[in-house]
Amino acid sequence: MTVDTQITTYKNFINGTWVESSSGKVEPSFNPANKTEVVGYVQLSTLEELDQAVKAAKVAQQAWKKLSGAERGAFLHKAADVLEKRMEEVATFMTKEMGKTLPEAKGETARGVAILRYFAGEGMRKVGDVIPSTDSNALMFTNRVPLGVVGVITPWNFPVAIPIWKMAPALVYGNSVVIKPAQETAVTCAKVIECFEEAGIPAGVLNMVTGSGSVIGQGLVDHEDINGITFTGSNDVGKRIGQGALARGAKYQLEMGGKNPVIVTKDADIDLAVEATISGAFRSTGQKCTATSRVIVERGVYETFKQKLVQKTNEITVGNGLEDGIWMGPCANENQFKTVLSYIETAKEEGATLLAGGNKLEGPPFKEGYFVEPTIFENVTSNMTIAQEEIFGPVIALIEVDSFKEALEIANDVKFGLSASIFTSNIGEMLSFINEMEAGLVRINSESAGVELQAPFGGMKQSSSHSREQGEAAKEFFTAIKTVFIK
Ligand code: NAP
Ligand code: MG
Repeated sequence: MTVDTQITTYKNFINGTWVESSSGKVEPSFNPANKTEVVGYVQLSTLEELDQAVKAAKVAQQAWKKLSGAERGAFLHKAADVLEKRMEEVATFMTKEMGKTLPEAKGETARGVAILRYFAGEGMRKVGDVIPSTDSNALMFTNRVPLGVVGVITPWNFPVAIPIWKMAPALVYGNSVVIKPAQETAVTCAKVIECFEEAGIPAGVLNMVTGSGSVIGQGLVDHEDINGITFTGSNDVGKRIGQGALARGAKYQLEMGGKNPVIVTKDADIDLAVEATISGAFRSTGQKCTATSRVIVERGVYETFKQKLVQKTNEITVGNGLEDGIWMGPCANENQFKTVLSYIETAKEEGATLLAGGNKLEGPPFKEGYFVEPTIFENVTSNMTIAQEEIFGPVIALIEVDSFKEALEIANDVKFGLSASIFTSNIGEMLSFINEMEAGLVRINSESAGVELQAPFGGMKQSSSHSREQGEAAKEFFTAIKTVFIK
């Protein structure tokens, strides 16, 4: 491969310095809105660099864990300030590297800043409890200690927020970190790491090694000095990571896919439900783990809902996310693009009826990009592939039902359980939904996508390893409880 020397090559960040891989190989990161544009080159690393990073992290953690939580938090505060200052630059790289629109990329970067500030504060909040001992001359309490070196493996769909919501709590609770970001968005991750560097994070406390998942990701899982693995990505990869970590006795946390339903009952505010469905299903080109992919509508309001949904969908402007007036960007990469198109074909073969979209966009200005129309199918039954498998693209499966009860049954009829929402003004339906919906996140009269950084996030069933991230829940994963007894 010939490397264009006008374009920046990003290196690994190991022990406080930027270093090339011993492989001598780099890979281009392409712009999915224009695949002829290389956004940057990233290292195709080997296990040699990974081992250097883990060793550096192990050494650095010894001094890092001895700082107070407030002292560690101060580094996160500084990193937040730097990221805030560099918001425009980081967001622009994100849009170029994975395609989401610039306003969405800025929103995500701002979220990254807020997460850093939240966890900076965690350094000063309580970590344990006093528990009355049966011995009146003793003091018994719990404390929390870091795991050691944490391996972070992240996907490409939230290239700033997900790395930060894993690294920030890992660091503030006294762990050191080696991150392997998705190779697709490693340039954006390098920008985030630069912010920590500019904030003066001590050498070795935070390291980044880029490369393929099967080499560097697997290498992290297998490395004897990695004490915890936090992963967000697909189910297939997640399961393998869980097995690998378990075999070594390392702590692990997996956040995986979803097939998130929205229920619209006859008591719903239809306009609100339409807005939220469009936003939940098509923002970020449907590439959110919490994206709406099944919309289950009660018969009495089906026709009205459908008509409004199709009309709004046809108004969506698709194109390069850096341009003004574009509402939806391309699929993030070729693989995703082909996957989405193949699910659309499967839906047609299985007898679903196409209501909107359904095609890739061709000709200028779409010629060099991975653009797909926002797509809606109706006459979908729960056993069809598009009602069961995660598509991770802008495709809605519309399902008409006779009752709220049937809606709930269908909503639960998948192996996933990440997020779910309902539109209704009926309090009984709301309560049944809250109680019976098998999902880690249930939302009433609000879209399925959307997470608040101070609240626990994670899925039921096959959507997670039954652990939770963010908010106070982050403490559960990134620390171990130590029970102390003093006589
Ligand atoms: P992916 O293919 O599973 O990749 C995720 C990460 O794992 C990447 O860094 C990847 O590296 C790495 N990886 C690949 N093979 C590996 C292996 N054998 N061992 C260790 N690491 C390995 O997922 P993706 O396509 O990037 O992301 C889309 C998926 O993420 C969707 O299923 C989505 O639902 C899920 N997701 C879940 C959440 C959530 O919080 N629940 C949030 C966002 C996304 P490379 O790609 O660089 O090779
Ligand atoms: Mg790319």
